[in-house]
Formats: sequence, structure tokens, C-alpha cells
Amino acid sequence: MGERRAKTLTDEFGLRTFRDLAFMFPYKYVDRSRFYDIAELSGDMPMVQIRGSFISFSEEGEGARKRLVGIFTDGRKMMQTVWFSKITAIRGLYHPGVEYVIFGKPSLFRNVWSMAHPEVSKFNPENPPSGFRGIYSLSETSRKKGFTARSISSLVENLLKHPGFQTVPETLPQEVVSAYRLMPLKEAIANLHFPENPESLQKARERMKFEELFYLQLHILRFSRERSQRIRGEVFARIGKYFNGFYNEVLPFPLTGAQKRVLREIRADMRTGRQMNRLLQGDVGSGKTLVAFMTMLMGADNGCQSALMAPTEILATQHYETIREWAEPLGLRVELLTGSTRVRQRRIIHEGLENGDIDIIVGTHALIEDTVKFRRLGVAVIDEQHRFGVAQRARMWQKSAIAPHVLVMTATPIPRTLAMTVYGDLDVSVIDELPPGRKPVTTLLRFDENRGEVNRLLGRELATGRQAYIVYPLITENPKLELKSVENGLERISGIFPQYKVCMVHGRMKPDVKEEQMRRFISGEARIMVATTVIEVGVNVPNASVMVIENAERFGLSQLHQLRGRVGRGSDKSYCVLVTKEKTGGDTRKRLGIMTETSDGFVISEADMRMRGPGDMEGTQQSGLAFSLQVANLTTDGQILSVAREAAGRILDAHPELLEREPRRQEGQASEGTSIAPVTVQNQKNLALSPSGIDTLRTELRYRFAKTIDWSRIS
Ligand code: ADP
Ligand code: MG
Repeated sequence: MGERRAKTLTDEFGLRTFRDLAFMFPYKYVDRSRFYDIAELSGDMPMVQIRGSFISFSEEGEGARKRLVGIFTDGRKMMQTVWFSKITAIRGLYHPGVEYVIFGKPSLFRNVWSMAHPEVSKFNPENPPSGFRGIYSLSETSRKKGFTARSISSLVENLLKHPGFQTVPETLPQEVVSAYRLMPLKEAIANLHFPENPESLQKARERMKFEELFYLQLHILRFSRERSQRIRGEVFARIGKYFNGFYNEVLPFPLTGAQKRVLREIRADMRTGRQMNRLLQGDVGSGKTLVAFMTMLMGADNGCQSALMAPTEILATQHYETIREWAEPLGLRVELLTGSTRVRQRRIIHEGLENGDIDIIVGTHALIEDTVKFRRLGVAVIDEQHRFGVAQRARMWQKSAIAPHVLVMTATPIPRTLAMTVYGDLDVSVIDELPPGRKPVTTLLRFDENRGEVNRLLGRELATGRQAYIVYPLITENPKLELKSVENGLERISGIFPQYKVCMVHGRMKPDVKEEQMRRFISGEARIMVATTVIEVGVNVPNASVMVIENAERFGLSQLHQLRGRVGRGSDKSYCVLVTKEKTGGDTRKRLGIMTETSDGFVISEADMRMRGPGDMEGTQQSGLAFSLQVANLTTDGQILSVAREAAGRILDAHPELLEREPRRQEGQASEGTSIAPVTVQNQKNLALSPSGIDTLRTELRYRFAKTIDWSRIS
């Protein structure tokens, strides 16, 4: 192709090499054997093809608006075809009375169906169109420069016929391709551009997705296994007076079965001599903090200090208070370190950590500053609300000669597929059971017009001695946005309930002011709290029984779920009222509908990911693993992801040499002892690879992850 066209391909599609072109896959396909009637056309149809003939052509408009309009009929109804350029050429090309197939996107213009710049081909009854046609996504500019879906197709067609294409190497080890019955790469590329049938298209897609997820998992697992081999962890051999004393004398309730199971999992990790790296998942209120605390007690029993890092100051303060209450009867010293800790106090804390006087430190990011040193840090708990990345987690480890055991808690459950990727380097424990006696929160959806009813509910609950939260999307009224604000809310609510004290918390307050307001609510002095979402994380006031969320349409699912988790912490009935304006869009209604239907955080997080897509989920960007999946989709490809992770794990089982940082090849014995026997999924536990298979893996890993984070520097 000429230079100008090549430049357009580079500028518009980023294509530089044959490989780029081969991997520019259609984003959808149309069935070429399906013809539409004009009468069938409707609003949002993608590309369709219609069989028929032109009745007439005429030129309309002047100058830049000049266009050629063809009247086209399928024999029953009529429609228009329109061309804005190459008018003279096209006029001479097509003739009335000849049977054609037109192909393009129909749109309704002044009540007449029309198709702009359709592809037109003569209909040949001997050889009618068949199979599937890929649709490539074209930019406006590329269209103007003469690229059509068909021209991309024909470039690809030439490429696939080129002898060079036959030399394209397989990017998965042959053994993996056969073990998992995957379509070979060349065949997959060809089928993605020109599918033979729906089944082969499906197989081709599966292969590409598998490959992408497989290498990602191999990369992650290789990192975490290498880490666990190399990094020594404290050995917590005994359970002693702190753990037992707490369990037998302080803990006021029995642990749930899930809490016990998770503690056993943690205990097992801590005895291995390797560093624990575990993700603790559980719904709001499932008792993760308690598990974290008991983990710290195992540390204390073995002469180690513990740290708990929380994402916000409010949350850190609450954790601190809870933990101090539990730990002080045991004779353990607990301190709080945040950004607003005074210099003098800070110095005392730094000292206490360094000489070992402090047993447990709770804090915010202030904990990972370089000035913070420990005598012997054994347990690092990170309560993370998806806000810390791999790199920040790692900064905690470097605080001790022997790496501390790391327990990461998520504030709300995250979908399984996201856990396997964003947190794929961690082992996962799940608390899937709430403490007994919790009544599910009754969730109501109400419109602005039902405000009277909402106020009556509030009044009733407050009259029985309970407390209430009212959450707003804004701090101050903004004339441009029709949204409710905290400041206005404070005034309004104080007017409606003059007999109760109201406190206010939002993100623009000074920490000590905020803390004072929180304290008034926690102590029960203030009965109503108006707030923004700063209260979302962690706040625990069991006497609160109503959560009203104003402009609920403005909040995402996981946020709504978090907010709702602030009530229902006592044993009485609680309410969450979602208030919206009457008219809301389809997605919003769906989101709010899910909230009223379920209180299961795992179900909600899956729904959230389905609606927003994995890329928009909190944590995906901040994860440090800055990957972007191109063909696989974490929302829909969970099955493939599981298989890919399993395959990666089996390969690492069979080939520990892959964990070596720099591939070291021992001369002369490269192939000795490696089996090239065919493997099948059913009967082979390990996936043995030939030397060339190992080479493929190494090459691809280097190629794919060259630009992502440098794991070796972190650990
Ligand atoms: P999470 O951090 O998972 O949201 P928390 O640890 O804050 O949950 O626990 C929520 C509340 O439940 C706390 O008041 C806690 O003391 C209480 N709790 C935890 N475990 C149990 C249990 N096994 N039985 C009864 N109450 C529990
Ligand atoms: Mg919590």
C-alpha cells in the first residue's frame, strides 16, 4: 500500500507492523446469510444487509452539502441510500434494474430509512453471501480518508494469504495448546477475522482470552511463589497467654464458624516459616476486625509487634478504640498514629515502636513513613477499601529484618475474578457468615414526594431511643446541581426534629472538629448525624437504626452497600431508605433495585462489576498491576480465568525453574529430564513442558510484562 494509506493506518489505528494488523480484531460480526426486509428495520440496528434494486438516483443539495441519493427497494418497501463524496463515480457504477445487496447501518431520517455510504455488491444467486463478516471499528477520520470495513477486511485477507503469515510462531507452548484443546494461534487469528461458523469463532475467542489470562496468571503466580520461597517469615509456633486469655476471658461472644475457619487458615500460614500474604474478604459487619485482632495476638504470643493500617483517619481512630478496649485488659499497649498526631506524641510513639514498648500500632498512611521503625514487626494488617497498591503494601514489609505476615482486609467483598487478578498474588480467606442475631436491614426506595413518610419513619425510630444517619452527596449547595447538601440538611433536619441534637461530618472539616462531631454521635449525645460519604468506611454505632441516603441515584452500588452496612449492627430492626427523584434512568433504577433485593455483598459486587465493567471498579487502577485486558473480560470470562489460573499453577508446579529471576540455562543438559509426552487435562497433574515450551513462556512473559511494575524492586 502507498505511504499515505500506511500513515493513516498508523495514525488512526496505531498499526505499524503486520502483527498489529493481524491482531486488530473486529469488534462484532454480522451473519452474511441473513437478509433484512426494509419493513423489519428498527431503531438501534447494527450493520444489516438488504437485497433489492435501485429505482433512481438524484443529486441533491449544493456545494459542501451536495449528495447523491439513491432510491432502493426490496420489492415491497422503499428506502434511501446516500453518498456525500465520489458522487460522479458512484453514479456510473450502479444501475437500476440490477439486483444488488447493500450493506450498512440503517438510520431513520425524516421518517424514511436511509443508509449512508453503504457497501454495494451485485447479488449472485449462484454464490450468495455467506458466513460471518467482521466489523472493524473505524474512526471518523479514517472513514473520510477512504477506509471502510471492507478495505480493512481486504488488507487482512491479503495478510493471511501472505507466505510470511505461515511463519507466525505459536505464542503458547504446544503442550498447553493440546492439554486444554485450544485453537492454534494462526487458526484463531484467521477465524477472528473471517469466522467459518459460530463455533469456530467461539473457539478462537476462547483461545485468545485464555492466552491473555494465562500469561497474566503465570506472571502473578510466578511472582507470589518466588516471593514465598525467598522471603522468610516469622514462625509463630505457639498460641499463648494473649490469644488464650482473650479468647477465654475477654471475648464476649462465640466466634462464628467462618471466623474460626479463617483463623485456622491464618494459623497454618504462620507456622510455615514463610511470610503470609493473605486477603481477608467478608461482608460489612462480618467480623473481620476481630479476626485481624486475634491474628495480632498470635504475634504478641510470639514476641512480635503488630500494625493495622486504615485508609482514613476516622476509621483508624475507630479501630484504635475497639482494639484498645480488647487489648488493654490483656496488658498490651496500643497506640494511634495518624497525620494529625502531634509532634511530641509522634516522637513518643516512634520511640515506643523502636524499643518494643508498643505492642500494637493503629494508624493511617503515617505508618509507612520512613521514620517509623519497629523493634520486631510480626503482623501487618491492611484494612484497605481497595486503596493501597502492591507497592504500598510492600513498604510495610521492609520495616523489619524478617518480613511481617500480611493480612489485607477488603471493606466490601470484591468479585472473584477481580480478586484473582488485582489481588492474585494473595491467598484468599472468606468470611461468608454474619454473626448470629443480625436482622437484615429493610431497604426502601422512596421518591422526594414521599418525604413525609420518610420523616415519620425517622421520628418513630428516634422516639424509641435509636439514632439515624442522613447522607448527602454534597457539602454545600451548588446552584448548578439539583442535589441535596449536608449544610442544608443540617438546617432542615434540625427544624423538623428540634428535640434531638444533630451533628455533622464531612470531608472539609478539620480533623479535630470532625472527631468531636463523631464522638458526639458515638456517645449518643447527638441522635442524628448528617454527613457525606466520609462515614462510609468502618464507622460502628450499633444503636443507629436508620440510614437515609439522599440523591441515592448519585452513588455507586458498592458505596450504597457500604453505607447501608453502617446500620443493622445491633440486634433490632434497621432501615435503609434510598431517596431519589421520581424520574431516574434505567441503569439507576436497576442499581437501586438490586439494593432492595439483596444484602449479600458478594452478589452486589458481582452486579456492580457487570454494570460498570471491571475497568471502572475501584482498585483496578490503583492495584499497581497496571494491566489492561484486551480480549478477556473479567465480568464474563470467570470460567476461562479459573482454567487459566489452574494451568499456570500446574506449570509452575512442574517447572520450579521458571521462578528463577534471570533464566539460567545449564549448558548441555537443557533437554535432559524434561518430558515431551503429550498431556491431557484429565489424567495429568503436572503440565510438563519441552524446552521450547519453556522458552515460549519466558519470551512471552518478558514481552508482555516488560512495562508493568518491577516486582523484584518491590520485594
Ligand atoms: P467488619 O470489619 O467485617 O465490617 P467488624 O469486625 O467491625 O466487621 O464487626 C462488626 C460488629 O460485629 C462488631 O461490633 C463486632 O464486635 C461484632 N462481632 C464480630 N464478630 C462477632 C461474633 N462472632 N459474634 C457477635 N458479634 C460479633
Ligand atoms: Mg470493618
